[in-house]
Amino acid sequence: MALKNEGETTQSLTAGDLDLSPRRVTVLGSTGSVGCNTIDLIRRQPESYRVEAITAQSNVERLAEQACLVKSRLAVIGDESLYGALKEALAGTGIEATAGQAALIEASQRPVDWVMAAIVGAAGLAATLEAVRQGAIVALANKESLVCAGSLMMAEVQTHGATLLPVDSEHNAIYQVFDFERRESIDHIIITASGGPFREFDMKSMAVATPDQAIAHPNWKMGEKISVDSATLMNKGLELIEAHYLFNLPSDQIKVVIHPQSVVHGLVAYVDGSVLAQLGSPDMRTPIAFTLGWPDRIASPSPRLDLTEIAKLTFEVPDNQRFPALNLCREALKEGSGAPTILSAANEIAVHGFLAGKIGFLDIVRIVEKTLERVPRSEIISLEDVYALDAASRESASALLRG
Ligand code: NAD
Ligand code: MG
Repeated sequence: MALKNEGETTQSLTAGDLDLSPRRVTVLGSTGSVGCNTIDLIRRQPESYRVEAITAQSNVERLAEQACLVKSRLAVIGDESLYGALKEALAGTGIEATAGQAALIEASQRPVDWVMAAIVGAAGLAATLEAVRQGAIVALANKESLVCAGSLMMAEVQTHGATLLPVDSEHNAIYQVFDFERRESIDHIIITASGGPFREFDMKSMAVATPDQAIAHPNWKMGEKISVDSATLMNKGLELIEAHYLFNLPSDQIKVVIHPQSVVHGLVAYVDGSVLAQLGSPDMRTPIAFTLGWPDRIASPSPRLDLTEIAKLTFEVPDNQRFPALNLCREALKEGSGAPTILSAANEIAVHGFLAGKIGFLDIVRIVEKTLERVPRSEIISLEDVYALDAASRESASALLRG
């Protein structure tokens, strides 16, 4: 039925006025914890996204399954020896398969609107930087890339007009309530920490804690590395450094509070005494959905927050005696000139050593501390500087690991 009289112009919006084309997306590290949650959100609204590429290091089976599920044009496996297996798994699907570091970089350079950077560790730096360099919206989960190359990364964001959206729940929360137009009205920001599985452990129990105990996080289900980082509180220290770069605030304007329920994720305290916070159930699909839909809000299946059911929210001061990692990160941030790069690299080595049963839980932070003492500082101007310092730190930490 015609609703319009002849000669009358329509006031309603047409498809031409609205951008209804699917958002072109790439997911780096799709088989990990953040990656799987991202794929889960994408597959729920297939008409809204066109997946260009997904990448993983070694899990061929999951990568191929995801590629078919979201109809990705390309799937990249980091481990080159697995190229044949990926090709075979994708045979007849029309999905392109590639492998190796160069292929990962090529994938992150393919023009898209949105990239999820969810590779773990400094291994994600190069690909994340390429996503930034194409001026895309970059959803940043890979906090280590900011810790090891923060100034460089933020400069590239500026140069290429990229939009960096934090995925880390605390930073995502702060981003949602941070008045970027009136920075002078902000007194400080607060990132919360669950306290991890050893929040109530004494030093004796922590000394004999096993990898299984360390990765059993009370509130979040995450990858192994970040789970161990949560147990040492190194994760919160890395997040402190991450917050410094994301919000351009000095260390003394970033506070950390232990909040075992993980409901209040981050807060911004304003000069008038107002404190704005973002709350939500501990489910990464909420912050990921925020970045995937941005600037719009999209639905997420994460459990709804029921405050009366939770009933009680508690907050504590972090215990710096039992958890020295937080102060170590604060010191590294204050020092600058490569210290965070050394810290992050040494931590990766120490965490792997702990997971492999080579060192005890308390040795993780000791190794990071010793590596910071040993490795000479150098200025970070280029990506090559980052890689050189990262390599020297890994070598030094590995030597400490061996005894
Ligand atoms: P994960 O270990 O579960 O997944 C890591 C992903 O990176 C996998 O897809 C893996 O294949 C890929 N990968 C690993 N090594 C690689 C390499 N050398 N080259 C290329 N790809 C490689 O990790 P995760 O828990 O999903 O965490 C990913 C990032 O997000 C980390 O930086 C972490 O700190 C951050 N983060 C995670 C959570 C969470 O809930 N898991 C929350 C906040 C922030
Ligand atoms: Mg976090």
